[in-house]
Amino acid sequence: MWLGIISLFPEIFDALSYGITGRAISSGLVTIAHFNPRDFTQDKHRRVDDRPYGGGAGMVMKVEPLEKAIAAAKNLHPTASVIYMNPQGQTLTQEIVQKLAQRSALLFLNGRYEGIDERIATYVDEEYSIGDYVISGGELASMVTLDAIIRCLPGALGDENSAKQDSFTEHRLDYPHYTRPECINGITVPKVLQSGDHKAIERWRLKQALGRTWQRRPDLFVKHPLTIEEQTLLNEFILENVPTAGDLLQTKRKD
Ligand code: SAH
Repeated sequence: MWLGIISLFPEIFDALSYGITGRAISSGLVTIAHFNPRDFTQDKHRRVDDRPYGGGAGMVMKVEPLEKAIAAAKNLHPTASVIYMNPQGQTLTQEIVQKLAQRSALLFLNGRYEGIDERIATYVDEEYSIGDYVISGGELASMVTLDAIIRCLPGALGDENSAKQDSFTEHRLDYPHYTRPECINGITVPKVLQSGDHKAIERWRLKQALGRTWQRRPDLFVKHPLTIEEQTLLNEFILENVPTAGDLLQTKRKD
């Protein structure tokens, strides 16, 4: 997969050279190409921003260096969709990430300052936000998106199954994980995980994943209703986790 990046601060993306994303880059699974708008300026001050028409706070990124950077990237990969990371865009979800991961080339446009001159919109194919808050530049938002996309590429993760079980992949949260030691601070690893019975483990994990989603993100069930088998497992979870009269009494005594 080819990933083009238009940014005034390409060094920020060096942080992708660790772990899973780092391996994907060094193995050639993804190729990252940088286009710095400053390299496409013609004036002696190499200006990429200017004051906003109408006055007010902050600076605005100019159109010309950006359109030249887009043209240079498109020259290499004419089919690359231009993605502008923008708090006003559609909120990124795992579903969107999985769709993006199927493309062969993407070009990420990163804003700075107050944002980009509105007229750049004619070059933009898609706009995504990483959430309802504002950060100082598109770079971290792009890196979040790139990392999420790279994890989805076949061969990026050591174990192909780990992406399948990840939160949101199947419209539910991940199940709880445990590692050695068996008992710590009086909390023991659930017995079933030490049973070696793979079917029972799989059933327990699915039940916990459904239970967690019900407890923490019931909205995910509204969009993606459960199968009968999943509903049965969730009912079991709810019954197993309903506080008993004894539990309630204990809580009360602590108060
Ligand atoms: N004035 C703009 C914010 C500019 S922040 C507004 O209020 O809409 C500068 C740049 O950071 C933006 O151009 C965008 O590329 C990036 N950015 C900030 N918050 C973001 C978010 N939540 N998601 C994606 N990109 C974001």
